Amino acid sequence: MDFHLTDAQRLIRDMVREFADKELAPIAGELDRLKRFPEKPLQRLAELGVLGMTMPPEYGGAGADAVSGCLALMEISRACASTAVAVSLHNTLTCEIIHRFGTEEQRRRYLPALCRGEILGAFSLTEPASGSDAASLRTTARLRGDHYVLNGTKLFVTNGSRAGVVILFASTDPAQDANGITAFLVEPSFPGFRVGKREEKMGLRASDTAELVLEDCLVPVEHRIGQEGEGFKIALASLVYGRAGIAAQAVGIAQACLDASIRYAKERQQFGRPIGQFQAIQWKLANMATEIEAARLLTLRAASLKDRGLPCLGESSMAKLFASEVANRAANEAVQIHGGYGYIQDFPVERYMRDARVLTIYEGTSEIHRLIIARHILAPSAWPSPHSEERGRETGGLRSGGDP
Ligand SMILES: Cc1cc2nc3c(=O)[nH]c(=O)nc-3n(C[C@H](O)[C@H](O)[C@H](O)COP(=O)(O)OP(=O)(O)OC[C@H]3O[C@@H](n4cnc5c(N)ncnc54)[C@H](O)[C@@H]3O)c2cc1C
Repeated sequence: MDFHLTDAQRLIRDMVREFADKELAPIAGELDRLKRFPEKPLQRLAELGVLGMTMPPEYGGAGADAVSGCLALMEISRACASTAVAVSLHNTLTCEIIHRFGTEEQRRRYLPALCRGEILGAFSLTEPASGSDAASLRTTARLRGDHYVLNGTKLFVTNGSRAGVVILFASTDPAQDANGITAFLVEPSFPGFRVGKREEKMGLRASDTAELVLEDCLVPVEHRIGQEGEGFKIALASLVYGRAGIAAQAVGIAQACLDASIRYAKERQQFGRPIGQFQAIQWKLANMATEIEAARLLTLRAASLKDRGLPCLGESSMAKLFASEVANRAANEAVQIHGGYGYIQDFPVERYMRDARVLTIYEGTSEIHRLIIARHILAPSAWPSPHSEERGRETGGLRSGGDP
């Protein structure tokens, strides 16, 4: 396995790092305090070619690989996790789904506008009564002539009130459960579409999380993605890369925690010396640094498997599970290292801790990812080799899990 980044990957990482350090980090605290959506930073990221960066140039993208996509998300998240989640949903789910499963007409209609940042994308699977058990969603889509009529309520939609296009999942055949779910490209201008409650959150306060209400919402037939009944498979297949994106977001927050803690440990003096000279603090920093490096490698490995067209469902679950828990541990330790100052809003670690909390919940809770990983390692087809790359070649890869 090659642990080195290519020149192109380094170039993208360094460009996004410079933007994040100079333009994003200085305003991230204010965006959080004012709960202000990062409109301008997103526009700048579009100018830099980061929005839709993994899309081919013919659709307006930069043709970057998934590893670069994750590196970019790590850098954005290190500065502002709210901006990172908006980019993650836009890039790793919306653009990827349209490119991978959309028709040529759908690609031409949406991808250039998504890459230019003219519209933002959203992904809407969760409902009030279906989260982990996403296949039990209740929103219906009935075909009437050349339109589907959608009815239901979707919940917790990132970019939901800001999106120009929402990839929305509804059931065209409730009797078929998961096999009755279909994916649609829904625009906010469609009759019967309404943005409901905008959620007030513990963290990621500058991000947009909204309820979407569909009341006899008319969606033209040509806005269906794939065939009727293919929606759940599309959601599961796409969430594989989506989870690598959330893992990258987690690595970014964890790195910000470590950077702030190192700075503080060198500056803060107690008992006549910097607290970084106490072994108790050094061990915390050493543990954080080691775990973050492991989380980074797991994340880049999942992305690199995707780039090579190899199965990575188990690997991306492991990356998401581990990185999200590392970020929470790192945030907790960062607050501890900052003492009382860690608990007040003048220092950014207070925001990091609030932002990190959701990472073990969205795009599959830690409990669900442990189920997915366990299911794969216990599957008979998983036994021949402990190395998942070889396993992928021998068996056709880790089997698809049932939970998003
Ligand atoms: C800020 C934010 C942004 C989000 N963005 C999006 C988005 O853009 N699009 C979207 O579709 N969704 C989004 N979500 C929804 C998110 O993916 C769900 O919240 C998540 O999947 C968990 O579902 P739930 O909240 O209904 O919890 P539940 O599924 O009700 O789970 C509650 C608890 O039970 C546990 N549990 C459930 N089933 C099992 C089981 N079988 N075994 C063991 N434990 C179990 C869970 O792990 C959890 O601890 C977002 C959520 C938040 C908070």
